Amino acid sequence: MFVKTPKILSKLFPSLIWKIQTKKKEVWLTFDDGPDEKTTPLILSILEKLNIKATFFLIGREIEKHPSLTKSIIEKGHIIGNHSFSHLDGYMTRNKIYYNDIFKNEIKINNLNLYRPPFGRMSLPQIWFLRKKFKIIMWDIFSWDFIKNNSLNMKNNVINNIEKGSIIVFHNNAKSFSNLSKKLEEILIEIQNKGYNFSSTW
Ligand SMILES: [Zn+2]
Repeated sequence: MFVKTPKILSKLFPSLIWKIQTKKKEVWLTFDDGPDEKTTPLILSILEKLNIKATFFLIGREIEKHPSLTKSIIEKGHIIGNHSFSHLDGYMTRNKIYYNDIFKNEIKINNLNLYRPPFGRMSLPQIWFLRKKFKIIMWDIFSWDFIKNNSLNMKNNVINNIEKGSIIVFHNNAKSFSNLSKKLEEILIEIQNKGYNFSSTW
């Protein structure tokens, strides 16, 4: 898997959103999975301190476990997107089961029609079907924040690849806690120091 999404992928799948077309120095910060009892409060406090708004792609199953964390994400002004109910892999799941799992989460995530596929993959028929219902948000930079002891690489992955319109992926789950607690704040400050703003407008 890649850190920086190769251009060929966005050419092959133009109906998916890999990057935002913009002339301004702005980037989109996204967090997949969760809410998580340790990682969500960490992320929220860093974002609040730096006055940054992000987009959280939440898992329905975890929303059910952590309603108050979900509430605080919304109350702090962040955007919420759908990351399915039980984090099924589109490649391994029959279409009907896959779609129902997404719609099961949609009931709870009612503000926007953003979808990010778990594992970042879907079959072509799944893309054709879901693009009619959702803005499907992929990414331009994958931080690899859930790999053990990877905080320095994670930082370089993001900082070295950032450009206007980049969509950056971190993870709002237990596996990413250690790396994010070491370096997330530093990364975001460095991005701000490079003159970028963070947008959560899709
Ligand atoms: Zn995920």
